[in-house]
Amino acid sequence: MLKVSCIECEKEHVLDFEYESEFFDSGDMGVQTEHIGSAQDTCSCGEEMSVHKRHMEYPPGQIEFSEESEEGCIILEEPSLPISGE
Ligand SMILES: [Zn+2]
Repeated sequence: MLKVSCIECEKEHVLDFEYESEFFDSGDMGVQTEHIGSAQDTCSCGEEMSVHKRHMEYPPGQIEFSEESEEGCIILEEPSLPISGE
């Protein structure tokens, strides 16, 4: 779940957002995991809203880097990070 507000009319929306994870066998410090999630919707004002997120987790439990982009909206509430475990 991801809460955003439309950049155009400021209406709030809750988008369906789920991460999908892909695992890579990487070596020394364990498994490397790529988490990708995206959500999109059209506001009642016609604005197209979309959010994309990508996180690399390595070593396990730590985000190595993140890429995020959003269009047509502002993120109000971030989805919880898909970190596998501490
Ligand atoms: Zn709108």
